[in-house]
Amino acid sequence: MDHSLFLILAATLGLILGSFATCAAHRLATGGSLTSPARSFCPACGHTLTWRENIPLAGWLLQGGRCRFCRARIPLRYPLSELACALFALAAATVFGFGWPFLVAVGFGTLLLVLSLIDLQTWLLPDVLTLPGAGLALLASTLLPHAHTLGIGWRAGLLGAAVGGGGLWLMAWAYRRIRGEDGLGLGDAKLMLLVGALLGPVAVPLTLFAGAVLALPMGLVAARRAAQEGEGTGAGEGLRTALPFGPFLCAGAAAFLLAGPQFLHWWLGRP
Ligand SMILES: [Zn+2]
Repeated sequence: MDHSLFLILAATLGLILGSFATCAAHRLATGGSLTSPARSFCPACGHTLTWRENIPLAGWLLQGGRCRFCRARIPLRYPLSELACALFALAAATVFGFGWPFLVAVGFGTLLLVLSLIDLQTWLLPDVLTLPGAGLALLASTLLPHAHTLGIGWRAGLLGAAVGGGGLWLMAWAYRRIRGEDGLGLGDAKLMLLVGALLGPVAVPLTLFAGAVLALPMGLVAARRAAQEGEGTGAGEGLRTALPFGPFLCAGAAAFLLAGPQFLHWWLGRP
């Protein structure tokens, strides 16, 4: 396939999947069914979206970020998610080229986006997504030919799942023993089970590291805002409760999927 055509198709696929992800996340987060109603609708007034309003990104821009009927503001996370998904698909197309690894990368990228959006809205990473996702990740590691960070083989997949799921479960257990309260959720452990099964054991500490680096400044901003609103009792308290960690782990995993080996080479100072 012509390369520039492939890139255009990849970005378009990313926009469509991003739109699907925001819709699926909203339905799962609000306890609705994934399949009914079949058409997208405005969450504020229930007006069914026409195909034109449904166009990712463009629909939002054309309507000035508001529902055409009730004028309710459509949250900025909708177009931002679509844009992020399109950029991820574009990057995956460049890294993997056309083929199964590209499709698997985009599929898991979309799943990570759905999980992030649900976690931001509900502070939960539903088992119904993370556990089958971990199974599919192991299957992908087993069946895919080795390509960049994917197709690592079933042994590395199992080891990664053990390090990711087991490691975070231990950390959550230790935190509860020492502090006498929940710090890390078990949802985070199940997410890392998935990440380890897909990307292997090396990806686990790097995903945690990237997640923490991304979460810290965002957490500080959120904690400061919470403190100004008089909610949190202190900066530490606010930092721990201001944001869920799942979206940052998802972003870290997506970054490793695209550029993990390059980052390792750069970090270890190898050419
Ligand atoms: Zn509306």
